[in-house]
Amino acid sequence: MDRRDFFQNSAWLGAGALAGCATPGVASPQPATPFKVAATYIPIVGSAEMFPVRRIYCIGRNYAAHAREMGSDPTREPPFFFQKPTDAIQYVASGTVADHPYPPLTKNYHYEAELVAALGRGGRNIPVERALDFVYGYTLGLDMTRRDLQRAMGDEKKPWKIGKSFDQSAPIGAIHRTAQTGHFTQGSIWLKVNGVTKQNANLNQMIWSVAEQISRLSQAFELFPGDIIYSGTPENVGPVVRGDVIEMHIDGLPNLSVRIV
Ligand code: MN
Repeated sequence: MDRRDFFQNSAWLGAGALAGCATPGVASPQPATPFKVAATYIPIVGSAEMFPVRRIYCIGRNYAAHAREMGSDPTREPPFFFQKPTDAIQYVASGTVADHPYPPLTKNYHYEAELVAALGRGGRNIPVERALDFVYGYTLGLDMTRRDLQRAMGDEKKPWKIGKSFDQSAPIGAIHRTAQTGHFTQGSIWLKVNGVTKQNANLNQMIWSVAEQISRLSQAFELFPGDIIYSGTPENVGPVVRGDVIEMHIDGLPNLSVRIV
């Protein structure tokens, strides 16, 4: 078999393995290596191209009232970041209500509505004054959280990835290019559950602006095109259960909706 046939065959085996993984408790046959691993893309509004996602960064406690409800003092805390795995992305098209699976192991599953910045350039030690030049576009997203697991691990001073960085924990809308929308430094951000307002704030209430987040992140990591940043959630996070419908809004972007199943 030539190289091309080999990869086509591998891709087919990879797809079979993925299908096997979707069945609980059923082991799939081992594919020959190399097998295909799916890349993650987000549609770009008004373009046939897709935005390839490299890394998902998320800032914690970036609105003062949310920091207080999480039990910390926002005035003394430098920004901190965590990551979700790239394949945690669940793309949600505007005008649709996507089924979002209630994840395993939790009894306290929380929404967090957030503005997301998508980078089109990378670098290290990016000055705040130039940081927005690195943003390719924006969208809205949910930083879904297994709050009970996050808290339990935090209480034990263990990494709380299990509470944040699980499968499909990052529902997200299509990318809107800054050339069309400009930057999102202020404007309403709200979230409703079953039509009842839960979160309602303004983007200008962020403790660390998107520009400051990019600058800070670039001191700790080299940033690259394809990195996206969840910019934090306002106060009044809370739980959802199966059957609930979440709708979130940011002024200037189409709403994002998911049904918990
Ligand atoms: Mn968050």
